[in-house]
Formats: sequence, C-alpha cells, structure tokens
Amino acid sequence: MENQSAGRLVLVIFPLQGHTTPMLQLGNVLHSKGFAITIAHTRFNPPNPSNHPHFSFLLLPDTLPYSETSATPSIYDVGNINRDCHAPLQEFLELQKQTADSDQVVGIIYDALMYFAATVADHIKIPRLVLMTSSASFDQTFVTIPRLLAQGSFPFEDSKLHDPVPQLNPLRFKDLPVPKENMVETLQFLDTASKLKSFSAIILNTIDCLEESSLFQLQEHYKVPVFRIGPLSKLAPALSTSFIKEETSCIAWLNDQAAKSVLYVSRGSLAVSDEKELAETFWGLANSGQPFLWVVRPGSVSGSEWTEVLPRDFKEIIGERGLIVKWAPQKEILAHSAVGGFWSHCGWNSTMESLSEGVPMICSPQFLDQKVTARYLTYVWEVGLELDDVLDRQNIERSIRRLMTGREGNEMRQRAIKLKQMINVSILKGGSSFNSLNDLTEFILTENLPPNKSSSESKLGDNF
Ligand code: UDP
Repeated sequence: MENQSAGRLVLVIFPLQGHTTPMLQLGNVLHSKGFAITIAHTRFNPPNPSNHPHFSFLLLPDTLPYSETSATPSIYDVGNINRDCHAPLQEFLELQKQTADSDQVVGIIYDALMYFAATVADHIKIPRLVLMTSSASFDQTFVTIPRLLAQGSFPFEDSKLHDPVPQLNPLRFKDLPVPKENMVETLQFLDTASKLKSFSAIILNTIDCLEESSLFQLQEHYKVPVFRIGPLSKLAPALSTSFIKEETSCIAWLNDQAAKSVLYVSRGSLAVSDEKELAETFWGLANSGQPFLWVVRPGSVSGSEWTEVLPRDFKEIIGERGLIVKWAPQKEILAHSAVGGFWSHCGWNSTMESLSEGVPMICSPQFLDQKVTARYLTYVWEVGLELDDVLDRQNIERSIRRLMTGREGNEMRQRAIKLKQMINVSILKGGSSFNSLNDLTEFILTENLPPNKSSSESKLGDNF
C-alpha cells in the first residue's frame, strides 16, 4: 500500500453492487488525488481486496445471515447494519487518531444508507461526506415526499398516479419511489433516514448538464456543498468491482457482430422476474430478429435457478444470433462498437454507463430510483423508450424494432451521441465534473486545516 500525502479517507460501503461500485470508483479517483484510502465494509458482500491492492480494508462485522448466494439485504436490514457497524468503526478511528501525522484520517465518506458513519465522524470530529449513489433527481424526491405527506397532498389513490408531482416536474406520482406493497415501511425508513442526515457535503455520481435543476434544488435544501463528479465509471480506472464473475468470453462474440446491431439486455443486480416474464422476454428477443446479448443473473427468476424455463431447444432457436450469460463485463460491452441499444432496468450506474457511451435504451424500471431515472431517460433526455408495464412478447418485439431499426430509435441514438460528447467534455480539464472533483479535494483539505492556513500550503502538492 502506497503512503499518500494528503491524508487518509475512510470510505464506508453499503453491501449492494450498485452501491459498492461507485464507492470503489470514488476511492480510486481520490487515491489519484493523493489520498490514502481505507474501505470499510461488511462481512456480507465484501469487495475483493486483490482488485484494489492500493487500498486498505476494514471489516465491520455485521450480523446479517451470510450466504454466498443470497446477496440482497432488504430495507429491513439497513437499520441492523447501521447498528452493528457503529462500534467497530468508532474503535478503528479512535485508534487511528493516535497514529503518525502522515496517516491521519482526514474524512469519512459514507454511503447514504450507512448513516451511522455521520454520528461516528461527529464523535471523532472529522468531516463527514455522504455519497448518494443515485441521481440528484431521485434524492430530490426524498426531500419532497415527506413535505407532501406533511401537507396531506400525497395521493394514495390509483386514479392520481399519472398526475404531476408538485415541485418535482416532470415526475408523476407513479414515478415516485414509494412502492405500494411496503409503503408504510418505506415511509418509516424515509423518516428515520431524513432525521439522521447530517453531513458536511454531498457527493453525487452525476453531471451538471444532466440534472442542473435537481442539483440546484438539493443545494438549496441541504445548504452544504454538492460535488457532482460523474461519470465515476469514466473517471476511475477500469478495475473490476463485480461480486459475480464476469463472463468475458462474450466480447469475442460481440467482435463478430455488425456495428450497432446488438441489443444488450440486463436488469442489474437486484431486479427479479417471474418465469412467465423470462419466457416472454426470450420470445420477444427471438422474434425481433435482432442480435442480442442477454444477462440472466442466477437467482433472478423466482422459482428457477437460471434459464430452465426456456424451451429446451432455445439454443437452436436463436442460433448464433443471441447469447445468454450469467454476468457480463457491462462497461466494456456498452463501449463496444457492435452494441446499438441497451434494454435496462434503469439502475443509476447502468444509466450513467450507457449515457457515457452514447447507447440509447429501452426502459423497464422496477422499483425505487429506477422509475425516476426512466422518466428522465424517456421524457427529459429523450434517449430511451419506455416498455409497457405488460411484459409480453409482442410489446417487447415492437420496442426492440423501434429502438434498433426505427427512425425514432435513430433519433434517440443521435441525441445519445450528443450527450456522450457533452459528458466527455465534462471530465476534461475545465469541464464541470473535472472542476467539481478539484473542488471536492480542496474542500476535504480545507476542512482539515487549522484556522489561518490556506489549502495551497497544505499537504496536497502537485496532485491537485
Ligand atoms: N453489471 C455488470 N454486469 C452485468 C450486470 C450489471 O457489471 O452483467 C454492473 C453494471 O455495470 C452496474 C451495476 O452492475 O455498474 C449495476 O448497478 P445499477 O445501479 O445499474 O443497478 P442495480 O444493480 O443497483 O439495480
């Protein structure tokens, strides 16, 4: 492990793929800015240290039932994880306080779901920055929903689902992250989490040009600096952050496909479907006539281990035109010239990865931030089309043709390519993400300075 000169940052990860990836990427970006990095993680879904030899790792022993195959903590587990991890992190930081000056912890950056870390940082008296791993627009809903509830203007009737949400244009009530099935628990969770929000700054994996208005409103609400330093997938080196082994052999198959002809299909690390949806998806893909690369995550189809419900001769039906894998090197795939579209659940990381490569999308969001993001993709940035709620083979086939070969899809592709160019500019010298990252580095150093000392006299040197 390198001895970095700007001090040590402790990054506290929440154990889901979509949360771990951006935090590890952020760690890499800040390491390149001169900070030493400690990754604090649970026993459940730990990162693989051998992929990050330049980091230190700190185990926070949670008491979640640990299993190699069940990798999804639920909303009910969040409180337990926060309770379990508090004391070990505090002990580590108290010990660390007594170490040499050169290895002092200069800040904690914690996932928004690991809110206990803010209390620990307060106790130790070091800056606490929160990484919100979703979009600014999603985070804004967490500000507005409690307000609407308090005013009694949050409708619970189905007839109001298509109404616009006041203060959240262009979202409709149906786009909000409050699922009907566990609405009470979600609202209670929102309430607890909002009371515990006490941070020195917010970090977001987003870009000014995508979410200017939401970013402005978040800043107005929280009154702390908001650093928007996306896309982290572009700023960080291409190290694997996957919990599941990536099937890299699919790249050889992609190399044989025509430019922009392949539809990449993935629903991320959490979304699940039933056997009927899997079968309809298969027939929709098969009947579309379009080449496809389809990720079916083991365990993502209720009642099945993997693809057992597909017709026995499914390989003969699709021939060389389609490939099904368990987990893919997604960033590499989206950057491949053969990929012309992405059918996605609209997780924020997937969305940022697709926008960064100029790939238009078919959107089938399932829950939480996915619906908010789908609304932005289809209605604001106009680089995605929404798949009807009913997942049947005709709908799927029609949507694939619209995206991959229709005029509408072509227009979306042109807009996606323009967005990609804007995103590329944002990470270059003088671009918004580039500047915001420098501001973040400066902020951490300044927060740690004794009064009357400027950050240019600080430990950062030439890295900045
Ligand atoms: N991912 C991957 N291979 C796959 C499917 C997904 O590497 O086969 C990665 C993807 O690149 C993204 C992450 O898993 O970085 C999924 O995060 P996202 O926020 O999109 O969705 P979530 O899994 O949290 O629903």
